[in-house]
Amino acid sequence: VANLKGTIKLDGVQLGLVGEIIKLFKQKGSRPMAMNFLRASEEHLKQHCIDLKDHPFFPGLVKYMNSGLIMVMVGEGLNVVKTGRVMLGETNPGDSKRGTIRGDFCIQVGRNSTHGSDSVKSADKEISLWFKPEELVDYKSCAHDWVYE
Ligand code: UDP
Ligand code: MG
Repeated sequence: VANLKGTIKLDGVQLGLVGEIIKLFKQKGSRPMAMNFLRASEEHLKQHCIDLKDHPFFPGLVKYMNSGLIMVMVGEGLNVVKTGRVMLGETNPGDSKRGTIRGDFCIQVGRNSTHGSDSVKSADKEISLWFKPEELVDYKSCAHDWVYE
């Protein structure tokens, strides 16, 4: 069981994808633990994207994510980091299969709606960047025994 940290970027909120994305993760057995809507500061977003700081698209990515509301969420489930990446699709929506979030709802790489942690290690780091420990609610989902053997 591992954590997934997902940020829904601006166009994910603007296009009304939030409910859809929560539903998809819930449907695939992920237990929501925390969620927040906010406008993140450029500084905070730079920290979030720090591994990409040397890429030419970095300033544009930070500016775009800072230009309005984002939604961040943490979910827990078996292999959820790996499964979550499959559900997002490829980085470039043009390479993403139908049935994935980016494949179904997005067109261009710089407007791909969603972020998903790429490893459990980066998920842990990102969770602590966006949430305080006491904001993560631990509980047993009533669906647990129907989803997991
Ligand atoms: N990105 C971009 N242009 C590129 C590559 C990436 O605008 O040529 C943006 C895109 O929004 C992507 C984000 O930078 O989601 C982070 O890139 P990463 O390689 O981590 O892809 P991801 O993990 O989101 O699939
Ligand atoms: Mg990434």
